[in-house]
Amino acid sequence: MENNGDNAKIKILEENDLKLKFILTSSAAFANSLRRAMKSLVPTMAVDYIDFYMNTSYLYDEILAHRIGLIPIKTDLEKFNMPDKCVCEGEGCPNCQVSFRLNIEGAKVVYSGDFVSDDPETLPVYDNIPIVELDVGQQLMLEAVARLGTGKEHVKWQPVSSCTYRIIPEITIDEKCNSCRDCIEVCPRNVFEIEDDKISVKKPEDCSMCMECVEACEESAIDIEETNNYLFNVEGIGALPVKRVLVEALKILKSKAEELTGIVEID
Ligand SMILES: [Zn+2]
Repeated sequence: MENNGDNAKIKILEENDLKLKFILTSSAAFANSLRRAMKSLVPTMAVDYIDFYMNTSYLYDEILAHRIGLIPIKTDLEKFNMPDKCVCEGEGCPNCQVSFRLNIEGAKVVYSGDFVSDDPETLPVYDNIPIVELDVGQQLMLEAVARLGTGKEHVKWQPVSSCTYRIIPEITIDEKCNSCRDCIEVCPRNVFEIEDDKISVKKPEDCSMCMECVEACEESAIDIEETNNYLFNVEGIGALPVKRVLVEALKILKSKAEELTGIVEID
């Protein structure tokens, strides 16, 4: 995957729907822009409006609304428009929103899986998130409306629960090294290894740049330098596969850059 504008490179190390680990080779500014775009600019579905017809549970409408808003919902970005860019001009229509109905009487614990969706493909990611415990005779009847939004607006629309990066340093061991193993002993991340009495760098991506090895080395044989390689660790909430979040974030950054070039005249 390549981003032409910045000549950034991405190498994926580990991938599944909920987790993504990759190395980005680019500037610090681009690494941070990408992190922020993944967190706050890629849209997902979340409940944004609730009509309570009946709530005799122990919890207030507001608390329930907050809990329901935080339920991750499987998102189809091709199917739905952002409300402000929809043909309905934000009024609400099947192109930009989905209704979830709930009518449950106690005694029972209400779970995310109890919602009945108008769209069979737009459902909570997990059906076992507890919402409220209803006592005998208590009733909860409501209609919740989900729409697309971004994490910039509210955290409930954030497609990732964690998105962090750190620099992968360049560690060099020069010929002054006398294989004393002091660096192996002090390194808390087991970055070094020894083979045939020769010390080498095994896992530079695990290095936290604590510089313990540099201090421990009496021969001053170890050098640690910052590089343009950033190790990203991203965890998703299940609304979108994390790789899709990455691709969408890159598209958003590209369109923002193009928009800026259109505004500013560059010689
Ligand atoms: Zn609409």
